[in-house]
Amino acid sequence: MKPLRLLFSVCLLILAITVTAQVKSSSGDKKMNDFIDGLMSKMTLQEKLGQMNLPASGDITTGEAESSDISIKIKEGKVGGLFNIKSVEKIKEVQRIAVEESRLKIPLIFGMDVIHGYETVFPIPLGLSATWDMPLIEKSARIAAIEASADGINWTFSPMVDIARDPRWGRVAEGSGEDPYLGSEIAKAMVHGYQGDDLTQNNTILSCVKHYALYGAAEAGRDYNTTDMSRFRMYNEYFPPYKAAVAAGVGSVMASFNEVDGIPATGNKWLMTDVLRKQWGFNGFVVTDYTGIPEMIAHGVGDYQTVSAMALEAGIDMDMVGEGLLTQSEKSLKEGKVSMKRIDEACRLILEAKYKLGLFSDPYKYCDSNRAKTEVFTPEHRQFAREVASKSFVLLKNEGNILPLKKAGTIAVVGPLADNKENMPGTWSVAADFSKATSVLTGLKAVAGDKVKFVYAQGSNLHADEIFEKRVGIFGKPLHRDSRPAEEIIKEAVDVAKQSDVVVAVVGESAEMSGEASSLSNIEIPQVQRDLLKALLQTGKPVVAVVFAGRPLAMKWEDENIPAILNVWFGGSEAGLAIADVLFGDVNPSGKLTATFPQNVGQVPIFYNHKNTGRPLADGAWFQKFRSNYIDVSNDPLYPFGYGLSYTTFSYGEIKLSQADPKGDQTITASVEVKNNGKFDGEEVVQLYIRDVVGSVTRPVKELKGFQKVALKAGETQTISFTITPEALKFYNSDLKYDWEAGEFQVMIGGNSRDVKVTFINWTK
Ligand code: BGC
Repeated sequence: MKPLRLLFSVCLLILAITVTAQVKSSSGDKKMNDFIDGLMSKMTLQEKLGQMNLPASGDITTGEAESSDISIKIKEGKVGGLFNIKSVEKIKEVQRIAVEESRLKIPLIFGMDVIHGYETVFPIPLGLSATWDMPLIEKSARIAAIEASADGINWTFSPMVDIARDPRWGRVAEGSGEDPYLGSEIAKAMVHGYQGDDLTQNNTILSCVKHYALYGAAEAGRDYNTTDMSRFRMYNEYFPPYKAAVAAGVGSVMASFNEVDGIPATGNKWLMTDVLRKQWGFNGFVVTDYTGIPEMIAHGVGDYQTVSAMALEAGIDMDMVGEGLLTQSEKSLKEGKVSMKRIDEACRLILEAKYKLGLFSDPYKYCDSNRAKTEVFTPEHRQFAREVASKSFVLLKNEGNILPLKKAGTIAVVGPLADNKENMPGTWSVAADFSKATSVLTGLKAVAGDKVKFVYAQGSNLHADEIFEKRVGIFGKPLHRDSRPAEEIIKEAVDVAKQSDVVVAVVGESAEMSGEASSLSNIEIPQVQRDLLKALLQTGKPVVAVVFAGRPLAMKWEDENIPAILNVWFGGSEAGLAIADVLFGDVNPSGKLTATFPQNVGQVPIFYNHKNTGRPLADGAWFQKFRSNYIDVSNDPLYPFGYGLSYTTFSYGEIKLSQADPKGDQTITASVEVKNNGKFDGEEVVQLYIRDVVGSVTRPVKELKGFQKVALKAGETQTISFTITPEALKFYNSDLKYDWEAGEFQVMIGGNSRDVKVTFINWTK
């Protein structure tokens, strides 16, 4: 052998050993590795592929698992896990088939979309993020894990961390808004909430961060649509929350439906292997989204066999519903299109997850019927959900301090969502029992007791168009359509309003107007509801709008005309009570927006951390010719990122710096005095933003770099300090190198991204 060729062969051998070693040592746990080595040595190719298969089971009826189609596959070792089956009994039955009737007796993993709570439902994630309260968010995930694991589930398809700047996209509801820093903090809190410190406990579950990657950047806000962006933007703005989840130890990752750089994410090796595994060091398993593999055929990158091989070689380990890995890989292996090494690696990663969950020691670990009876939908969990919901609402307007309402007199409660409990939990409430949720009317009555007389009328349908209502009622949440002419329905509400001292109009979106496959081109409150609001205003009674929304709505008209607006997202099973708590002032609202609310849909995408352009508008101007603006609407959002009112007001002193000219790795402190000026105790989210004034690449006009949620008694002043290190100044430059650059930085602190105190520092290297 020629010396060069010999060297090459030796290198190849070393590489092969390193790769095998890498796969084997994804965990340093020798006992686990030995166990899995032993198990895998007995597995046939089909059994390995079976572990990689996550079929749709449908919700199997209790007692029927044995005779279901799925049971045949389980017995043949062709199933690695199932998802969205509910109840210990059913899960036990299916698990029994796997561990008693399949050749190798490998237990199944049971997944579910436990997105914002289990039976105790918390606010939709966009609402949760508006609390800006990390311990609270983590605890909501912890409770979700306790309930889900008590009911047989050991894997959740959450958190969804897709940065989203387009409210037309219905899945804005499922994420934490537009900001990478806040999104990363929430990603960490949720992963930790679900997985805890010890996955071997029976009340912690495996988390799955999704949808990797860029799903929130779907063009035109149309679900599943193409995304296309520079790597520079990916790394700086869209990747951070996925990366944060990986750093927090998330056990699994779900691929997104969209394409990235012209290749569907599911088949994108750069994304799944180079970035996720090599750059970020992810060592869990990757699952596709629902039919992600066969969908690549329609994307236009190959036939079923080709796309299945592409996904596997890209780094996909488990195939949700597609069955491409199960049915196509043997042929691809024979033809050299996939490697045995990759199949072994994928199978191993799934077995490792099962091992870490303790399923090999006890496959029924999560099937304790006693826990199912005592740990789900408990009074304590519901009480916490009520607290979380009340902290997620954002008070957008409160002219003349109409709110809080007095617990006295007559209150008219009007609107298509006023007495509708089924729509309260919002999208993705797979485990919820909707009959147990509380409507706004019920909540108001419960909180006010008999001190208030309530009068009620529906006032309008959700939407004038019955077909539209059918589309958004596809999962059967009733919308109580009234077939009378709209004028007649409104008149009834006006008569009711006339008898009252104040009108609470409960309007906005129904639960399924946001979420998956619920994109909208018009993000205003449906006209028929606006007609109701107009008629109510004409009575001369004070009107409070309680707005349900799974996305930032364009509410310019409402802002101009309605004196008080409380945005309540979808607050979960206890939403009705929580809304009453806030309306009556038992809880002072403290939620702050995590996504910009536009004036109109034409401004979309609109987000606070944008670039300046070469032709920015002059400060305070709303139109200047040959500047970057519109001629029909100002550049301002209706409500900026970070915005939200309270029943009290907070004022901010000037920023004091420990030092204005730091050097190298020094740490500085920026402090402000925050004062509660009003008569109510309240909570404020103090926000720190930084602008890198000059960079080797253009930098955003401001970026969130820190926040603190503080409680201030009426009249109290507190000094709030932020520590700033060069870490906070780092970004990916045009070579995708992560570093900071010396120079001038603007430091801003305030109660929202618009109204900030400003100072400057000059940081040298
Ligand atoms: C969604 C995922 C979800 C999966 C399983 C898909 O349609 O995109 O977010 O986890 O279904 O239900």
